[in-house]
Amino acid sequence: MKVSERVELKDKTTLKVGGIAQYFVETNDLQATASFAKEKNLPIFVLGGGSNIVLPERVLDMVVVQLDVKGSEVLKEDEESVTISVGAAENLDSFIQETVEKGYWGLENLSLIPGTVAGLAIQNVGAYGVEASSYIKSVNAFNIETEMYERILCEDCGFGYRRSIFNTDKKGKYIVHSLTLELSKKPKPITKYRSLKNFKDNPTQKEIREKVIEIRKGKDLDPENIWSVGSFFKNVEVDDLEKYNLSEKVKKSVFKTEDGFKIPGAALIDDLGLKGLCVGDACISETQANMIVNKGEATASQIQELFEKVQKKVESETGVRLTNEPEIL
Ligand SMILES: Cc1cc2nc3c(=O)[nH]c(=O)nc-3n(C[C@H](O)[C@H](O)[C@H](O)COP(=O)(O)OP(=O)(O)OC[C@H]3O[C@@H](n4cnc5c(N)ncnc54)[C@H](O)[C@@H]3O)c2cc1C
Repeated sequence: MKVSERVELKDKTTLKVGGIAQYFVETNDLQATASFAKEKNLPIFVLGGGSNIVLPERVLDMVVVQLDVKGSEVLKEDEESVTISVGAAENLDSFIQETVEKGYWGLENLSLIPGTVAGLAIQNVGAYGVEASSYIKSVNAFNIETEMYERILCEDCGFGYRRSIFNTDKKGKYIVHSLTLELSKKPKPITKYRSLKNFKDNPTQKEIREKVIEIRKGKDLDPENIWSVGSFFKNVEVDDLEKYNLSEKVKKSVFKTEDGFKIPGAALIDDLGLKGLCVGDACISETQANMIVNKGEATASQIQELFEKVQKKVESETGVRLTNEPEIL
């Protein structure tokens, strides 16, 4: 366990916004980390790749933990599938690349999403017609209160759209240590999503990965070049469209779900002409209306103000209340 004091966090996030951690701990010893936090009488905050978080500029009176649990191991394998355990701190995209190279199908549509493998479980990461929960068998998590490890089965993780127990009712209770995933050894291309439809018959895994990367790079979704947390505004799940004042254009972008409808946040924002709206250096992306980008020196409070401005405008015009996808600490 490596403990540092007063560590700047800004550059550990993809938005390049944030203050200072009172204590910054790099570790794979979670028992020692929990004891350290108790001794200091401070809460633990786990920072993964910092790609879904808005950190405040102040000094955080917390023990900020960056895990060092990496690597993967095949637990079981037959002709059909492979069961793999992977460390929570593993870089997600490097791990996906590895699964593509080995011909383990499932995660290729999630290519180029930044952050760590832990994120798969925390917000049930999803993109291009795939959600992580379809491949998660269980989550090995450290319970901060009891200081014991628990194996939480997929069905007990409360997975939904960008949701799990880890970012809702059990938030702050667990440190995700590793995930057990089941991937297919038989080709299972998923190309139902609009932009992947018709690009090729029976694409290989590598072709899907390359296509997804190409699309994402064209949409301000390359974290190397654009500072953001990806989608800032979640799509909105509703059971009835009638109560909302939606334009024909927005109505066309709505998609049907099992329980009702999903209204894309981006369509609502774009329709009201809010692309490019800025508060200081915090701006609504010109290409992806549901993204807030940091054009240079944006602060957490500017980001919050811009978020609330857009939320208010969309709600007053349409009756739809947008919510944030990243955690705003
Ligand atoms: C350009 C860009 C594109 C993106 N595209 C997508 C997308 O298509 N789909 C999608 O779903 N997301 C997307 N995201 C969001 C983000 O990449 C994912 O949510 C990612 O999984 C977050 O992982 P992280 O390690 O960076 O988490 P962080 O941002 O470090 O943390 C996010 C939350 O998870 C908690 N956390 C992190 N690790 C642990 C752990 N080990 N145990 C307990 N809690 C933990 C943190 O405390 C925090 O509350 C995008 C982000 C960017 C910047």
